[in-house]
Amino acid sequence: MGLLSLGTPLPWEESRQYSNHIRSNGLEQLINMFNAASKRQDDPFLWGDELEYILVQFNNNTHRAKINIDKDYILEDLNKPGHCEYDLALRNNTNFHPEYGRFMIEATPIKPYNGESLNDYLFVEENMTKRRIIASKAINNPDIIPLTITSYPLMGIGNFTEPPSQPNGDASKSLFLPDEIINRHVRFPTLTANIRKRRGEKVAINIPMYQDETTAKFDESIPLNRGLFSEDEEPILGAALAGHIYMDSMGFGMGCSCLQVTVQAPNVNKARYLYDSWANLAPIFLALSSATPILKGHLADQDVRWNVISKSVDDRTAYERDVEPLRPGNEFGGVKLEDQGKVQKIPKSRYDSIDSYLGDKLDDDDTYRFFNNELNDNNQPLNELVLKKLISNKDKHFDLPLAQHFAHLYIRDPLVIFNERINQDNLSDTDHFENIQSTNWQTIRFKPPTQKAIPTNHDTPGWRVEFRSMDIQITDFENAAFATFIALLGHSFLLNSEEWNFYIPISKIEENMSRAHFKNPIFSTKYFFKKDIHSPGFEIDELSINEIINGSSQFIGLIKIVENHLKTQYNIEISSNGPYSRFYYYLKLISGRASGELISPANYIRYFVLGHETYQKDSKITEEINFELLEKLNRISKYDDSQGELSEFFGNELSLYLVENKVNSEV
Ligand code: ADP
Ligand code: MG
Ligand code: MG
Ligand code: MG
Repeated sequence: MGLLSLGTPLPWEESRQYSNHIRSNGLEQLINMFNAASKRQDDPFLWGDELEYILVQFNNNTHRAKINIDKDYILEDLNKPGHCEYDLALRNNTNFHPEYGRFMIEATPIKPYNGESLNDYLFVEENMTKRRIIASKAINNPDIIPLTITSYPLMGIGNFTEPPSQPNGDASKSLFLPDEIINRHVRFPTLTANIRKRRGEKVAINIPMYQDETTAKFDESIPLNRGLFSEDEEPILGAALAGHIYMDSMGFGMGCSCLQVTVQAPNVNKARYLYDSWANLAPIFLALSSATPILKGHLADQDVRWNVISKSVDDRTAYERDVEPLRPGNEFGGVKLEDQGKVQKIPKSRYDSIDSYLGDKLDDDDTYRFFNNELNDNNQPLNELVLKKLISNKDKHFDLPLAQHFAHLYIRDPLVIFNERINQDNLSDTDHFENIQSTNWQTIRFKPPTQKAIPTNHDTPGWRVEFRSMDIQITDFENAAFATFIALLGHSFLLNSEEWNFYIPISKIEENMSRAHFKNPIFSTKYFFKKDIHSPGFEIDELSINEIINGSSQFIGLIKIVENHLKTQYNIEISSNGPYSRFYYYLKLISGRASGELISPANYIRYFVLGHETYQKDSKITEEINFELLEKLNRISKYDDSQGELSEFFGNELSLYLVENKVNSEV
């Protein structure tokens, strides 16, 4: 999380008058960041992951599992110098951050891994394992377990929190989610309320419902006559779609867990190249990591979390979305009337796939190696003032694609402004820039360094790129495999930036993103991809994920790229024994998921539901399914094969290996 300022957050009615102030000062801050850091060179390839956990409380007497919402104080303990939990976290290079939900935590390594040293890759999984153990120690209750699941199955259904709470809060006005699930820090309820106020309606998240023999046409969990808030009638006014799971609150999306990877590039131009090259991997790895077949107590007809989060923070007004408002006269929602002249149509939520490439600019002149402007064929709305200002910047830091990138981020309003932080020193502060940047949640994030990052200062991070599309996995083994794979790909791309061209028109990536939301997205569709990465021009092909990962006569395959990288950089051959055997099993997992030899978490979970004795063929998750599923995922996360589940999930070779080769978990 980029920003967690302390102070008094302004409600939307007051905060919107400062939107332009935040944008213009945030832009000054950005320009100052470029002034400081644009000439930075040769930063090492450091990287780090982020894992998000959901605290599940099991009750073995009642056979119920809920989300726990009163252990969030552990985050303070884990971050309070002198506190024993803090010391433990520090000693083990683990860092714990707050997340949107009171039932969530995020954890990262404190010090990033050194991606240039092969040995450091072997500590990734160990670090992840220790995070889980340290979090559990801080919770200090064996019934409450931090699980890396994307979504809690019974979110918003029945009495699903521990301690119990009611959906009657003013921040979200949700029919399903109590405000007590939202992080206590004032930023989060304000964020929730301000999104709703700006939009002028509650968010409306409609996800196709899995259709079974007796599935109801209309989501039966919607209370139709509550009458607590005027917003309660929105589903009847058209917010809820037939055949869909209807959700009405930010917590349904921001309560989902992701796996993210951030890497540092040697300089700004290489960071731009990596951002662009990773862009078309984002939908592929969203599909390959698919682990989200259940939402709000129902089986979904898709396997990933992405569009749930996207819709859950969609603050666009009806006019901006180009649809009729639910109530007549409300097309401008909470956007001030006098601003209407500048209001433009906005095709996508602020949480969505990237809208344009940055361009792989060459160091010595103003041209690009492979990129050209025609590849940016998405027609994204821009903040024209920002575009002009950046293009005319006297130090020429911003060429067209780079200026367009920021001009697009700057079409958004800041969502939370802290009264005490309105006036800042643009030479040293970055809050206003971060305010816009960190609420543009896209598949890839370009992270510029701060004004401190002058070329000689290597104590502060340089130009970084973040890969943000993946669903979190159940075990640390899988999360380490995916994170390591993405980092190694990133490193190899950077080393081959003069040769490898991954560009396809960005509209095709957009199409891939929607295909990644098909059910069974690893096998049910092909994806646009550039198969001949050595060809400077651009051709567009459609490949299966199996071909993209495992290679074929068409494309070398990403596994091979990683294997070649390990060989040329470190002179190691991947094999099932020796000090680097773990890599062999990481690749085995990724290869097996892509080929179908191994089941995806989404399919594993869906089949469990469909085969459960209490399942009524109505797409609904029962309390028994919820409890037993979470118990099962908990056992898998501990590599416990006593019930044969590990072998079922990972196949015999991997499960045997995992049982016999646990990583060091001593904290
Ligand atoms: P955010 O939530 O804004 O993405 P976090 O601080 O939660 O940021 O996570 C950032 C990740 O980047 C962590 O894994 C961290 O270890 C890693 N990281 C920190 N410094 C660097 C760096 N200089 N280069 C690459 N990665 C870094
Ligand atoms: Mg984070
Ligand atoms: Mg997070
Ligand atoms: Mg992140």
